[in-house]
Formats: sequence, structure tokens, C-alpha cells
Amino acid sequence: MLKIKRVPTVVSNYQEDNISQSASGCGRNCLGKCCLPVSRLSLYAFKIQTEDPIKDGNVNSSEEQPPISFLHNLLLGQWEDRMSRGLFRYDVTTCETKILHCKYGFIAQLNEGRHQKKRPTEFRVDQVLHPFDDKKFNFTKVGQEEVLFRFEPNNDKSYFCPSSEVASDLQSPSVVVINVSPIEYGHVLLIPRVLNCLSQRIDPESLLLALHLAKEAADPFFRVGYNSLGAFATINHLHFQAYYLAVPFPVEKAPSQRILAKKGLHNKGVIVSQLLCYPVRGLVFEGGNTIRDLSDVVASSCICLQNNNIPFNILISDCGKRIFLFPQCFAEKQALGEVSQDILDTLVNPAVWEISGHIVLKRRKDFDDASEAYAWRLLSEVSLSEDRFQEVKACILEAAGLQEANVENTLNKEVSLYKPPAGRAAPHLPRDCLVHQ
Ligand SMILES: [Zn+2]
Repeated sequence: MLKIKRVPTVVSNYQEDNISQSASGCGRNCLGKCCLPVSRLSLYAFKIQTEDPIKDGNVNSSEEQPPISFLHNLLLGQWEDRMSRGLFRYDVTTCETKILHCKYGFIAQLNEGRHQKKRPTEFRVDQVLHPFDDKKFNFTKVGQEEVLFRFEPNNDKSYFCPSSEVASDLQSPSVVVINVSPIEYGHVLLIPRVLNCLSQRIDPESLLLALHLAKEAADPFFRVGYNSLGAFATINHLHFQAYYLAVPFPVEKAPSQRILAKKGLHNKGVIVSQLLCYPVRGLVFEGGNTIRDLSDVVASSCICLQNNNIPFNILISDCGKRIFLFPQCFAEKQALGEVSQDILDTLVNPAVWEISGHIVLKRRKDFDDASEAYAWRLLSEVSLSEDRFQEVKACILEAAGLQEANVENTLNKEVSLYKPPAGRAAPHLPRDCLVHQ
């Protein structure tokens, strides 16, 4: 059994108290079966568009959809409201951020408030799937004041309802809640069907919900991420994270090479590429005839990794149109004593944000010393070796029903380069956040 010691991140103010819940109303207005079904929450319902291609940034083709910025405004308005109510553990807008010079533009943040006052806990890192344990902290224990809104699919139209009865729906609600230890502006968690107590495990419906959140937010600077167990998820209750960062992530700028020459029978127009010139080996998924086509191919790939016990991270980028998948082995190497001590000394947990190039440092010294060389060394420890990556890639492509093209035919032909997002204004930039260019 492989274990590492690390300081767990506190994502909810209810994480630290060990109040046991009674079956009939705990009196805390929580997200559990005791309180949630008899509650009213605001509801954002998005229209499921089965035939809607997600190409060309056409995120708002239906006239019935709310204005493009509706979810954006709702999320940030509610998030700022929770900030003014003092629900966060620190003020993330005062955290210093700098962009490291050189080629890739890694972003370093000094966040001294995030991990203080907690003792390291042992985490098992060799099991990607683990059954849900209702005795451990999970999101049913969160207080409703940490909820921003419910986020649900709807067949006929999109709408927003400021106060909607939870009980009127047959399905367990999916909710967007704040992360009380934010690493950036608007940092939230998406918890699919919270009452179903799903373990941290990708399934097609939940991944599709996460893609819809990115699509509805309709802002290329809003990304959704996922960490599996063994790849720095701390809570074994299904959740995605998301936040705004108004610069491109280095991984979004990295070139990639297409590994599918032709559309296979089953890929429904989904294009799969491999990252080039990036310290973490990974795959990029784009295209697809519908948002579900893209989601399903990625979900099949993740399920393959889960079934083979390979930890991984996902970044959903470009309003849900581009998805990065990183199988990783940092925690395993750490448990085996194979990570160099100076890297471990910085206490950085290389989860999805770090892998994508946004590195959250806890100590002033590490922040001052941060360089591209450090970022590269840290992330190189995260990556699978070339041989192992090729094995895992073959397994993923097979599971997703994709055919790999003859590499020699495509070499140097299908290398795509980063196109910066259309210059959308970013008024949500942390006002007090220092950005050194
Ligand atoms: Zn309750």
C-alpha cells in the first residue's frame, strides 16, 4: 500500500467539525438528506442541445438561452456575495501572482493562507477508485450558505429561478458551491447529484455536466478541472473545480500533434492530439459533432484510466471545446521516495492547476525563487515516462474506440499552434492582485 503525507486543503467551512448528522433534520441547513429535499435554492437550468455543434465558439446559438454573460454574472455575483459575508478563509484577491519570464509563461502565486494550521494527513495514493465513505467529510455536510446555485439540464429551455423547491425534482440536485480556500477569483466546486454520494470517479453524465458548466460560463478564462484520487483529489465525493484566470495557461499555448489522421468509425468527429514540448505528457481532445460526442470520448478514456488504476487530471478549457487529459505518477513516485527533496520541500501538490501551469506556492522564499526551470522540473516529475505514456495512450485510444494514425504520415503535418482567445474584457480580474509581467 502506497501512502504519502500531505496537508489536506479545506474546501468547506464544515470540513473540520465532526458533527454527526441525525436522520431527521440536523438543524444546520446542510446539503444532506436531512435538509436539502425540503429546501429552496436558486436554480440555473441549461437547455440540452443534442444537435448543437460546439465548434466556432457558437455558445449562444439558441434565442431562448439567457444572455451570454448570465451564468458568468450569476456565478461571480454570488461568489462576491459570499466573500462579503466572510465565508472564505482568506482574501485571495490579495495573493501575489507573477508570470515567470521565458518561453512558457508559467504563473506563480503566493498563497500563504491556504494550508496553514493543518497537520499533514496520510493519503493512500495507489487506488484511483475507492468506495464512498459517509463517515468521512463529504459535500452533504456543507452548509447551504456555501451554495451558489443548482446547475441542472433541462429539455426545452434555459432559465434561472432565484428560489426553487429542491423536492420538485426527481433527480438528486447538482450544485455549484464555493471553495473556501480559493486559488483564484470565482473558485467554485461543481458537485453532480450531491445526494447520490458518488465517489470521485468520472462517469459520462457527470463529465457532460462539467462541460456544460464551461460552455454556459462562455468565457475562455473560466476553466473546469478534475483530479482523480492518487492525483491530488483530497475528498472522495465526486467534484470538479473551476475558476477564472485572465491569462492563458501555459498548457493551452503548447503545440500539439494530431494522432488521428482520419475520422474513425466511432469518434464522431472528435480529434485527439498529443501535447508536444510540454513537461507533462498528455492528450488533447477537441471537436465532435455535439458536446456529448466530445464528452463521451473523454469519459471513455477516463474510465479506461480508472479501470487500470492510473491516476489522472483533466482540464476543460476554451468554453468546453478543448479537454486536456494527463495521466500522472507524482504521488506514486513520492511514496516510493523517487522525487527529489528540494521539489518536495516546496510542498506543492501538482494537481490539475499546477500541471496546466498555474503553480500555487505556500512560502515567500519559493515564490521569490520561482523560475521556469523550477516549474519544468516539478512538472517533469509528474509526467509518465515516454514508454509508459505510449502504453497508456494505446490503452486510452482503444477504450475510446479510436484508431491511431501512422505517426510517420502525420509527423510535422498536423502540429497545431495556440490561438489566443478573442480579446474578451476581463473585468473580474482580482483588483488587488499584483501581476508582474
Ligand atoms: Zn442537515
